[in-house]
Amino acid sequence: MEKNAPHYDLLIIGGGMVGASLACALGNQPLRIGVIEAVPFRSSSQPSYDDRSIALAYGARKIFEGMGLWPQVKAIATPINKIHVSDRGHFGAMRMDAAHQGYPALGYVVENRDLGQLFAKQLASFSNIELICPAQLKNLTITADDATVVIERDGEVETLTTRLIVGADGGRSAVRQLSGISHTSDDYHQNAVIANITPGRDHQHVAYERFTDSGPLALLPMSDGRCSLVWTVDRDKVDDVMAWDDETFLARLQERFGMRLGLLQKTGKRNAYPLALVRADEHIRPRLALIGNAAHVLHPIAGQGFNLGIRDVAALAQVIVEAKDNDIGALSVLNQYDQWRKHDQACVTNLTDGLVRIFSNQIAPLVIGRNSSLLAMDLIPPVKRALMRQTMGLAGKLPRLARGIPLQ
Ligand SMILES: Cc1cc2nc3c(=O)[nH]c(=O)nc-3n(C[C@H](O)[C@H](O)[C@H](O)COP(=O)(O)OP(=O)(O)OC[C@H]3O[C@@H](n4cnc5c(N)ncnc54)[C@H](O)[C@@H]3O)c2cc1C
Repeated sequence: MEKNAPHYDLLIIGGGMVGASLACALGNQPLRIGVIEAVPFRSSSQPSYDDRSIALAYGARKIFEGMGLWPQVKAIATPINKIHVSDRGHFGAMRMDAAHQGYPALGYVVENRDLGQLFAKQLASFSNIELICPAQLKNLTITADDATVVIERDGEVETLTTRLIVGADGGRSAVRQLSGISHTSDDYHQNAVIANITPGRDHQHVAYERFTDSGPLALLPMSDGRCSLVWTVDRDKVDDVMAWDDETFLARLQERFGMRLGLLQKTGKRNAYPLALVRADEHIRPRLALIGNAAHVLHPIAGQGFNLGIRDVAALAQVIVEAKDNDIGALSVLNQYDQWRKHDQACVTNLTDGLVRIFSNQIAPLVIGRNSSLLAMDLIPPVKRALMRQTMGLAGKLPRLARGIPLQ
């Protein structure tokens, strides 16, 4: 190790949406924080801040409020006032309405690139945060006293030391791999095709989730009257879908979605993402914690991945700040984060995975069962309320940030 390697209280590996959120949450705290990110925020190849849009649950809004970032996020967000869930060709449907439930909105749609620019600006404003970018994690070692991180920056190898490494480096986490934490990966054999669609009718801030025999599709309200499409297709069909010309793509989409948004007029560029459920077998070790996709990658069917990740952020940030003069890398401190997050992570993972499996199946009793469940959720208010609280990120014991309260 270099003799005078720079020392940090906390090194966050990955400045994507979850890692940057943690850094912003801890901005202005008496902690020296380094964020190591491989790809510059404004680069077209940035994998977190790419062409996607993301549905932020109302619970994520509360966390941004607690971080003091909500006015900036609100300025780039389109509210979702209603959600309409349906099963194409069957009787089941469920509606959720923010006004009926007493919320200003059920969630918000934000373009990932806009969020990237916002985080970049915000991180630069904190004197306790150093963005080390572009730089790639190459190795790490952990001892009882501290952790050492080896990075490559501008072709040079550098060594840094820290009390705590936070792995926020996504689904293929190098932190996870280098620390020898195993994971399970269940391939859904599906891809999500995304594009921005201009519909013939005003979206009126309604988000549509439609289950079809060829996979679920979601159309979320965006700025300028556009909708953000996430269309799940079987892996063996994805090349065809990507190869269709725009006219064919819109016609096939219209066939599956129907006329609720009028005639679909225009589509933007398409991108495809392979889908799998990935779960790390451990989320903490002494001097190490995993958050966001490094800990759990979900199917985008219910728009829960980032929302779950930012709740990891809210809990970990609070545990770190409350550790005060104690060692923030100690297992006893990190255990609090792990225990706090287990229930929510299991609920959301099981809910998302269950939805994929139930709605990918065309066996008659299952189709009747899922449509009856949709109707039951629509008609029985306590069932609907419980589901909404979970998917909006408002269930269980909430960290301060998730209640919209600053960390201190
Ligand atoms: C099609 C689609 C739609 C989605 N829609 C929604 C939605 O509506 N709502 C929702 O909540 N979620 C949604 N998600 C999920 C959401 O995108 C992810 O949960 C979120 O991006 C996870 O963020 P992350 O920061 O944990 O990981 P990532 O976004 O993967 O970021 C990881 C970062 O780490 C960096 N990195 C990786 N390796 C290294 C290394 N060795 N050294 C340094 N840096 C490194 C990467 O460059 C990247 O910036 C969707 C996902 C998909 C695929």
